[in-house]
Amino acid sequence: MVQAVRIQKDLEALNEFTATPGQGTTRLSYSAEAAKARPFIKEIMVKAGLTVREDALGNIFGRLSTPEIDHKPIVLVGSHYDSVPNGGMFDGPAGIMAGLEVARLFQDQGLVPQYPLEIVAMVEEEGTSFNSGLLASRALCGFLTYEDLQKLQDQNGLSAAEHITNAGYHPEEVEKLAYPPKALKAFLELHIEQGPILENLKKDVGIVDVIVGISQLQVVIQGKAGHAGTTPMGMRSDALLSASRVIATAEKIAIEAGEYCVATVGRLNVYPNGSNVIPDKVTFTVDIRSKFKDKLDAMIAAVKASVHAEANSGITVSEHLTLYVEPTELSTVIVNNFREQSNRLGILEEPMVSGAGHDAMIFAKVTDVGLIFVPSKDGISHHPAEWTDYDEIAKGVEVLFETVKVLTEAKGKSND
Ligand SMILES: [Zn+2]
Repeated sequence: MVQAVRIQKDLEALNEFTATPGQGTTRLSYSAEAAKARPFIKEIMVKAGLTVREDALGNIFGRLSTPEIDHKPIVLVGSHYDSVPNGGMFDGPAGIMAGLEVARLFQDQGLVPQYPLEIVAMVEEEGTSFNSGLLASRALCGFLTYEDLQKLQDQNGLSAAEHITNAGYHPEEVEKLAYPPKALKAFLELHIEQGPILENLKKDVGIVDVIVGISQLQVVIQGKAGHAGTTPMGMRSDALLSASRVIATAEKIAIEAGEYCVATVGRLNVYPNGSNVIPDKVTFTVDIRSKFKDKLDAMIAAVKASVHAEANSGITVSEHLTLYVEPTELSTVIVNNFREQSNRLGILEEPMVSGAGHDAMIFAKVTDVGLIFVPSKDGISHHPAEWTDYDEIAKGVEVLFETVKVLTEAKGKSND
């Protein structure tokens, strides 16, 4: 049986690796905390009977296989171990520990998979460090180049490639990390809902059939600095004023686009950021999402147009898309299996659309994907108060385990 207490123990132990004890989980990719988390993740993978390897980006894999099945396509289960600053302890790690509990159940019950089972703990899903998320899944699916890693930068201009190198890994090998075509049989992820729906409906698990399309636009507006007291209003090139018009327009664009359409400016840097200096440069991100591809594309185009509308003799603008993923329909075979297992186990399921980006949506381009949500208390996420009861995670793991058994065609040792 699934043991909530084992899941709890691992999640609490992993949560010790935070840069902000007492103020939520802060475990940015390639930070000192991430470096400390890795040996722990490897250790619990080994204890779960898995063969561990780590790749050139710091993704960690635990594999259950036998020589007879080693060549067969893999059933991959997992999530990410990075967090946002002052985030919660479940976003990402719940999915890793769910995978590990599945592996332990194989171990407990002496189950032998007929397809390799891999549990994965991935880096940099959140996009906090370099303004671009889903890094690991993009690499594992062949959608990330070394050039991309050289271009992506943190707030101080240090590139992702440099961060990865400084942490002891090998960004130049990123293109070798992709699973070859047909090497995956399926990717399964358990994740907290990060919204209020399951709790409100009193359902145990959400079975996602569509993940919204998601994009991130990076905008730079360059104006001219000047003294706040001595520069007349008519002679200013205030980059922050331009940025604020774009931000207000982005809200309008999303509202007009209608249901399942959202746009958010969550990060903004003002230079030189002095109270008595006219801002000469502003950089910000626009996060744009929709369930519908045509609306997603139209919103991106409209926000870009509003950026370019700010350009004049004193203001120069630039924008580029650092992330673009189309809305994704997940595997109906897996969705149906999740549903069937839930019904059989008496676990209450709810069909859902995912409004958040997940590594699952990248994997959906190359293999069959299933995504299970477990309830988030008060819908809170990316916050220290993020919470899911361990018993609720355990219910999700029960469904996950049954579906993994089906996909790996697991056999009891006595049946050999
Ligand atoms: Zn997550």
